[in-house]
Amino acid sequence: MTQALCPHCNAALLTLKIVGLDGISNNGSYHCVAYVCPSCNRAISAQIDPVEIEDRLINAIRNRD
Ligand SMILES: [Zn+2]
Repeated sequence: MTQALCPHCNAALLTLKIVGLDGISNNGSYHCVAYVCPSCNRAISAQIDPVEIEDRLINAIRNRD
């Protein structure tokens, strides 16, 4: 089995910390999440919170017509 490794400290990634943060763009602000290595606390990646995207999509579909 392939083991995921932290690109910063090379620790085996069995879990990730998910940290909420605000993302600001020219079009407004979004709730974002960062995926953080539990060994070195460095961010591996970040994105707009997928749950917020899902909620916005569901509301947009419900509010059609
Ligand atoms: Zn690490």
